[in-house]
Amino acid sequence: PSPPPSNFLRQIIEHDLAEGKFAQARWGGSPGDAAHHATGPLDPARIRTRFPPEPNGYLHIGHAKSICLNFGLARDYGGVCHLRFDDTNPEKEDQEYVDGIIDAVRWLGFDWHAFGTEHLYYASSYFDFMYRAAEYLIEQGLAYVDEQTPEEMRARRGDFATPGVDSPYRTRSVAENLARFRQMKEGELPDGAAVLRARIDMASPNINLRDPALYRIKHAAHHATGMRWCIYPMYTFAHPIEDALERITHSICTLEFEDQRPFYDWLLDHLAAGGLIATPQPRQYEFARLNLTYVVTSKRKLKHLVDTGIVQGWDDPRMPTIVGLRRRGYTPEAIQLFCERIGVTKDYSWIEYSALEGALRDDLEHKAPRAMAVLEPLKLVLTNWDDLFGAGHLEPCELPALPHAPQDQPAPPPRRFTLGKEVWIERDDFTELPPKGYKRLFPSNRVRLKGGFVIECTGCVKDANGQVTEVHASVLPDTKSGTPGADSVKVKAAITWVGVADGISAEVRLYDRLFTDAQPDAGGKDFLQLLNPQSLRVVQAIVEPSLATARPDDKFQFERHGYFVADRVEHTPQHPVFNLAVGLKDSWGK
Ligand code: ATP
Ligand code: MG
Ligand code: MG
Repeated sequence: PSPPPSNFLRQIIEHDLAEGKFAQARWGGSPGDAAHHATGPLDPARIRTRFPPEPNGYLHIGHAKSICLNFGLARDYGGVCHLRFDDTNPEKEDQEYVDGIIDAVRWLGFDWHAFGTEHLYYASSYFDFMYRAAEYLIEQGLAYVDEQTPEEMRARRGDFATPGVDSPYRTRSVAENLARFRQMKEGELPDGAAVLRARIDMASPNINLRDPALYRIKHAAHHATGMRWCIYPMYTFAHPIEDALERITHSICTLEFEDQRPFYDWLLDHLAAGGLIATPQPRQYEFARLNLTYVVTSKRKLKHLVDTGIVQGWDDPRMPTIVGLRRRGYTPEAIQLFCERIGVTKDYSWIEYSALEGALRDDLEHKAPRAMAVLEPLKLVLTNWDDLFGAGHLEPCELPALPHAPQDQPAPPPRRFTLGKEVWIERDDFTELPPKGYKRLFPSNRVRLKGGFVIECTGCVKDANGQVTEVHASVLPDTKSGTPGADSVKVKAAITWVGVADGISAEVRLYDRLFTDAQPDAGGKDFLQLLNPQSLRVVQAIVEPSLATARPDDKFQFERHGYFVADRVEHTPQHPVFNLAVGLKDSWGK
């Protein structure tokens, strides 16, 4: 395989490695290290990245970009990527989401086991250290307990044009702050009565440095620590500490956090100066998040779609979640290919949904066996069949499972099926009055039944409403595919079909985009008003007999229709269910 394309992060890492910046981090040796690093005995990882989801929902395609990036960099540079649950927010988090995230990362093909250790961490396991770090800041005069109301605090923060104003609590003594902070911890104050704030600069042009909150009171049960704590660290305080304790070298996040970087450095500089954390400290780098057209990637909004029943669950095949994409028929390889193709930059942009679909098509083209499926069945009767072959005759036919199988792989066995007097064809493969250029069935025209004989249309039967109920044709003898006479009659089209005798009836779910707007989430739009009412159409189809052995998650190309997957949840041999993963051609521009 070709080496991955370079990007600004790879350049930074290569530069750091060339300078030997982490030689010390590899082998330990700084005073704070032995006591506080979270990763066990230091291993020979050359770099350390992390993927730090909050377990408050299922992962989506945006997270996949971050996963491929962080795990990919660790893999390519002899490092390790930690899977860390950023579980500092007690109310929204749940074990169900922890399990779902572990499944998703593993399914995408990444592993957090390295150098004999499982690098799976929970931010909540650092709560003791975080509390100690907070007391240290208080002792240094770098933090204070503020008891203003939230409204007063907001009013004094100022805005872009106006510097903030100091809190009246800002000048409390160290002793008073320590005592009050301990009271917060002991549960003596109700929710919202006080927060611990960093003492930095209320006039800073960067609003994130105007004495940001470090700890808040929340009398709430936490999924991992139960009722042990009633104060919880804020994300901005917790995250740099998590990175430092795990000896992360490159802490990669999305651009929204660029303004937080000065605080990230402020905090770690002070903790390192006090010997609480090891050096070299982690550095934060930002990249542009993935924005994908026709897709919403906010866990909160996705949860709303689930909770209100707009979709059937987190794994609904229309969801941009990893579990949804998986059930839709996406492969880990296709998602990885997509992430590689979109690259990593610092430029805000939108990626076309068709780029994701293109990656799936490219991955499945050489993997997914072909099959014939008739999605809108119309019966075709071969009126001279009995005269030619005798009543009840079934002619065995076959077609390759993978017509373009890679040269270096053994070709799979062909699919076998039979042709008899009656077959199912697509309703729109017949018309009485052909428009210009129509090459399929119409009276007196000839087509090939793919893998079978050439036939000539002789007419049709209609019901009282004029709806065609049956098409009639006669077989041209000695024209079967693969026999010497196959080319004796030239035709302009081959149509797909399934025999009435051996076709299998199946439920086929035809999915389309969930939203009608390319940016349903942007510029104050209400995504709930932009739902596509046709995002799911269910049809009763007839599929070829080779699909009788399809197992859940097996993928196929239904010839002329697209790629389909046997539904992982509901497909059974008794009740086959196939989901449209992606059409054969890009139809988004239409
Ligand atoms: P959401 O807003 O959907 O809850 P989040 O960013 O709050 O997403 P986290 O669980 O905190 O979700 O995200 C874990 C990691 O995934 C973070 O490092 C974040 O930068 C990254 N991430 C989340 N969304 C995207 C995206 N659209 N593109 C790239 N990376 C993303
Ligand atoms: Mg988050
Ligand atoms: Mg977010």
